[in-house]
Amino acid sequence: MRRKIVAGNWKMNGSKDLVQQLVGQVREQVASLDVRAEVVIIPPALYVDSVVALCGSELVTGVQNVSQWQSGAYTGEVSSDMAKDLGCQYALVGHSERRQLFGESDDVVARKIEQVLASGLTAVLCVGETLEEREAGSAERVVANQVRQGLASVAGEQWSNIVVAYEPVWAIGTGKTATAEDAQAMHADIRRVLAEMGAPSETISVLYGGSVKADNAAALFAEPDIDGGLIGGASLKAEDFVSICRAFPVGA
Ligand code: PEP
Repeated sequence: MRRKIVAGNWKMNGSKDLVQQLVGQVREQVASLDVRAEVVIIPPALYVDSVVALCGSELVTGVQNVSQWQSGAYTGEVSSDMAKDLGCQYALVGHSERRQLFGESDDVVARKIEQVLASGLTAVLCVGETLEEREAGSAERVVANQVRQGLASVAGEQWSNIVVAYEPVWAIGTGKTATAEDAQAMHADIRRVLAEMGAPSETISVLYGGSVKADNAAALFAEPDIDGGLIGGASLKAEDFVSICRAFPVGA
């Protein structure tokens, strides 16, 4: 049985007040309602400590990014060991905003994955094609390459600390979502690539991200290879986020 996960990526949003309110509300609702997924809060790094303190046993915390280096003279960077030290369990790696706005290459992504695994965190490798790549018919090839390169050094037991998030770039923050069928096809493809790499592909959770909302989550989560979601905008409102967390079909 694969882990069902819903992770809320707050991006560069939040404040001390928002942390108190939002984490408190999400925790309360997750505790009292029927939620069959692991619920992860991924705030900006400065708020990780406060979020960890508020999560209780109902929620877990992640970081949005870590350095490709372990420690040292890298002003402004945050290491994976530090995230682990504060109580994080997950780290996003290779989010499309990091790739596009901060020039993260597949090589850098692979080095970050190594750091995350060395710290004992679970890495959420984000992959996804741009609109141009989809229209050119190369979406599957682009995503397969990102998976192969990002996870090139993963072996053996380390696979149990890998999650993949398929996030078509054209769907992030745009209100456009891949159809459940298109997302399922890509997820099945990702699982095939993982199997070719020697990974235990049937046990690795593959999440979908890109304008997931309360009204489209159920259709996405009903697909056999979609194990949950990485949620941006909708993770900033407790009610919306918790509705998504509850969108798994009975028996999932
Ligand atoms: C994301 O940033 O990972 C994301 C999926 O954002 P949104 O849900 O806002 O599209």
